[in-house]
Amino acid sequence: MSDQRQPAIVLVSEARSDFLLDEFGRYARDYDLRTATSAAEAEAISAEVVRDGGQVALFVSESRLPDAHVLDAFSRWRVVIPTARRLIAAHWETFREDAVDLRDGLGKGKFDALLLMPRGVRDEEFHNAVTEMLSDWGSTVAAPEVAAVRIVTPHVDVLTMALRDYLDRMGLPNQTFAPDSPEGQEILAKAPGTPAYPLVEAMNQTPATATSVRGLAMMIYGRPDEITVETVVDVAIVGAGPAGLATAVYAASEGLTTVALEAEAIGGQAGTSSMIRNYLGFPRGISGMRLAQRARSQAVRFGTRFFTGWPVTELVPGKDGQPHLLRTEGGDVRARAVVIASGVDYRKLPVESLEALTGTGVHYGAAMTAAREMEGRDVYVVGGGNSAGQAAVHLARFARSVTIVIRRAGLSETMSDYLIREIEYNPRIHIEPAAEVVAGGGDGRLEWISIHHITTGEVSRHEAAGLFLLLGAEPHCEWLPAEIQRNQQGYVCTGRNVARERWVDDMPPGDLATSVPGVFAVGDVRAGSMKRVASASGEGASVVPLVHEWLAGQD
Ligand SMILES: Cc1cc2nc3c(=O)[nH]c(=O)nc-3n(C[C@H](O)[C@H](O)[C@H](O)COP(=O)(O)OP(=O)(O)OC[C@H]3O[C@@H](n4cnc5c(N)ncnc54)[C@H](O)[C@@H]3O)c2cc1C
Repeated sequence: MSDQRQPAIVLVSEARSDFLLDEFGRYARDYDLRTATSAAEAEAISAEVVRDGGQVALFVSESRLPDAHVLDAFSRWRVVIPTARRLIAAHWETFREDAVDLRDGLGKGKFDALLLMPRGVRDEEFHNAVTEMLSDWGSTVAAPEVAAVRIVTPHVDVLTMALRDYLDRMGLPNQTFAPDSPEGQEILAKAPGTPAYPLVEAMNQTPATATSVRGLAMMIYGRPDEITVETVVDVAIVGAGPAGLATAVYAASEGLTTVALEAEAIGGQAGTSSMIRNYLGFPRGISGMRLAQRARSQAVRFGTRFFTGWPVTELVPGKDGQPHLLRTEGGDVRARAVVIASGVDYRKLPVESLEALTGTGVHYGAAMTAAREMEGRDVYVVGGGNSAGQAAVHLARFARSVTIVIRRAGLSETMSDYLIREIEYNPRIHIEPAAEVVAGGGDGRLEWISIHHITTGEVSRHEAAGLFLLLGAEPHCEWLPAEIQRNQQGYVCTGRNVARERWVDDMPPGDLATSVPGVFAVGDVRAGSMKRVASASGEGASVVPLVHEWLAGQD
């Protein structure tokens, strides 16, 4: 049963708390609106809410408080309740001045948004930001009020965790119940025979035991062989990260019959990013999971059929204009055009506390945008390849110091000579050999890391504003046939990167076309791609005219 206690919104202002309460009247049905006139009072209210078993969804504070700087107040409230979203509503008389003072804190993630206090009724721009923050809080923190999927199990084991992770990534609210709870009893009564656990009731269907994530995916979304082998779809997309999702939206919206096959849950790498801050049109950032869920609904609305939990195991290119065949363990799909959008896997550091700070100080790849935020700070790069070297050189333009942490004794085996020389010449870059990053943390963003020195066994703690992980990436290409040309690192070649002997009539394939006619590649899996959400989705959109052209030629 859902907790009937409403989550709180705490409104803090010395002189205008009544005004804010009035402005927030529209949220009174779903949230417990509380007012405070100082940082200390807001802290006491939050502590009381927590003590009573409740949650604070959002702090809204005026930019100036009588007893504390607003940023110090946020950090005190964060100790009491770390998950609440934080909004500063600056009074219009002081907004310009305050914005200068607070901009740096916004960039560093000390709060989520700086807005002008509403100037009258129906300031929908302000409320849009509030709703976005509440929705983000609701989808990432709050226990769902209504569950589309209910799981019954006596203990939350590894399989149950995997099922829940899959459901969260697919945007399906879910709850777990013990067998002897009233909900557990109700679901068990509907199950045929003697069920094993975890027992899953998905979308009001008859409860059934889930033995794997794929089994659950099948219960909800079906199997690829539901598309009869005789049916030939216009375009089949392999991978539903940003590139595959964008291809699905544009292909389906332009009338092509579209199927997307995804090995896991939708979203790809982006789906694992807690906050994408540089995607066009989302000034307050958006969690990768929510971005993916929105893109999926958009694609479904235009008619794309998604099958998740089904890795494509083989692509058999069609000969002489025949359709291409994609094999999965759940059946085959035949398509006139195939778009490879299977992305890459970044190697990760096995440190959980650092994973949680991804995007807020911890970055995979060179993270060019984040480099600017490192001005005058101490940063660390992990990795000994050329990409790590290039990232270090780039970061040293901004950071006070850049330390490259490597497990080996030196860089010579893994990095090009010219880069090693450049690094040695740069007084801001240091190398920490025979070392590994083993821990790290910070208040909402990375502040420190610990380094284990392999030869001495010592562990040292260091202040760190940025940790850039360049541990290498591997494209998901094991399922591709030899006819699809790939470069030395295994990325799929397209356009002019395809070897000349494979060109047709001495003309290179189109920019996103591979060495096999009618097979295209987009996003991170493509050689030379930019490895960003925007570029992946841009390529997804750009490939569709090429697909049209190919299909028209076939007709
Ligand atoms: C932690 C993290 C944070 C990031 N933050 C940012 C950021 O803030 N801003 C930014 O611009 N970029 C960010 N990136 C990079 C960005 O996420 C990627 O560039 C982007 O996701 C690439 O999209 P893609 O669709 O090409 O590939 P992916 O996102 O890798 O998606 C590929 C999909 O294909 C599926 N797949 C693989 N093989 C198969 C198969 N055989 N059959 C079926 N499906 C298959 C995978 O399961 C996956 O879902 C981040 C990356 C990570 C890892």
